[in-house]
Amino acid sequence: MSVESYQLYIDGKWVSTPDSYEIRSPATEELVATVAKGGVEHVDAAVAAARRAHESGVWRNTSPEDRANLLLDVAERLGAKADQLAALQTRENGATIRITGALHIGLSIAQLQFLAVQSKDYEYETAGPAIEPIPAEGIVRREPVGVVAAIVPWNIPYLTTIWKIAPALAAGNTVVLKPDEHAPLCGLELAKVFDEAGLPAGVLNVVTGDGEPVGKYLAGHPGVNKVAFTGSTVVGKSILRDSADTVKRVSLELGGKGPNIILDGADLDTAIDGSIFAAFANNGEACEAGTRLLVPRERHDEIVDRLVERAATLRVGDPLDPATNVGPVISETQQSRILEYFRIAAAEGAKAVLGGGVPAGPQFEKGYWIEPTVFVGVDNSTRIAREEVFGPVVVVLPYDSIDDAVKIANDSDYGLSAGVWGDEATAREVANRLDAGMVFVNDWHVIHPAYPFGGFKQSGLGREGGLHQLDEYTEAKFVSVNKSPGPEARAFAIVIDPA
Ligand code: NAD
Repeated sequence: MSVESYQLYIDGKWVSTPDSYEIRSPATEELVATVAKGGVEHVDAAVAAARRAHESGVWRNTSPEDRANLLLDVAERLGAKADQLAALQTRENGATIRITGALHIGLSIAQLQFLAVQSKDYEYETAGPAIEPIPAEGIVRREPVGVVAAIVPWNIPYLTTIWKIAPALAAGNTVVLKPDEHAPLCGLELAKVFDEAGLPAGVLNVVTGDGEPVGKYLAGHPGVNKVAFTGSTVVGKSILRDSADTVKRVSLELGGKGPNIILDGADLDTAIDGSIFAAFANNGEACEAGTRLLVPRERHDEIVDRLVERAATLRVGDPLDPATNVGPVISETQQSRILEYFRIAAAEGAKAVLGGGVPAGPQFEKGYWIEPTVFVGVDNSTRIAREEVFGPVVVVLPYDSIDDAVKIANDSDYGLSAGVWGDEATAREVANRLDAGMVFVNDWHVIHPAYPFGGFKQSGLGREGGLHQLDEYTEAKFVSVNKSPGPEARAFAIVIDPA
């Protein structure tokens, strides 16, 4: 397998740095690529390039149609090399090839295509009602915010990047992208594609590097107008603080601890299968995963037995093998963090009825592996039930009534996703009572460009995708035009008497 060396992308040029580092497969520890390591000086250069491009009007003064057509061109180019990019993504972050193709790349293409149509129809300038009694005409313009910093995580890098840079670019902004240090290849591959599609220099810039200093410096940079972030809640809070001095616009997609309620009377084959999908898809490294499984107390043992029996059939192994269900976790650090949660859970009285450690076997000697794990025997007050583990782990919590299930579900600092399995009428009533940005009824991981992705409470601020996504990347400017100027016809003539 060839090993490519990647550089930073600043002002339309590929830029080398004194330092570079290796990306190794979390499954095999084989070298996947070498990547230039950016520093704060590269952030300065990238922000300066983005600001020059913004101020020159080279991008914002193009028509929405031309910008949308470029997004469509990018979607087509991504589609043409989707298999290659999916395999690279799998080698880089260990997500299974089933999911990198369909979800990481496929949904990114769908998002670009949807946004192109949406942007062509977007009301960049709207005339409102006449302003009486002046008389005046009122216009609302939606103008680009300016320079957008996009800071993204490693778990679903394509989609979390496209969710930000596509609406930002569609609306005429310029962008500095900071990919995650563990999975920077997606951002750099996207830069290649946008470059090939003819995006003017400086409109998209990519600076790799660590969260600190690079991400932090970018989030606080006075040349940045908006920060769009996906990642952990702890870093999201620090970004809010760092962006406060210059009152940046901020959107945050943060962590979750999704409650997944199986109603009494739900079809258990469907609910259990779906709950496994909810918890273990993308190796459990999904912010919207269903990681707290709420079951009727009297059916707890039966459901746990069936869940364990079914989850034990998951194939853990080579993420490039299409038969694999669960691949490695991203890094040794993340593996240690998950194992530490297993120790915490045991100390809290939880029992692992499936997994609870590192799988055994020669194929797991290299790389960072965690067994699909099911915990029972604790309540919602424990750390294993409250904190985001971000691995293939689910905790089963019994409930006594629907009211009790809703109470447990909502008893969380997070509010990203939730789900309900059961008859549609009851499930929808329960769905309406859940404090979550996304509720899946008889399904999970439903992500569609037309619907907003994001959370209540400490799961975030703002939404990605959906019908209002361009509002998040534009400022509303009200322009009033007095049609009969003169002292008698001012809006508030009454406040100052006409001379
Ligand atoms: P993370 O917060 O550690 O890192 C995310 C990004 O922020 C990386 O690019 C990192 O370099 C950067 N960063 C780190 N410290 C920074 C700082 N002080 N200032 C600015 N940037 C900084 O998150 P992670 O561990 O890489 O990703 C997993 C987290 O992302 C989980 O909590 C998960 O729930 C969340 N996530 C949320 C969504 C969502 O849409 N809600 C989607 C995917 C992942």
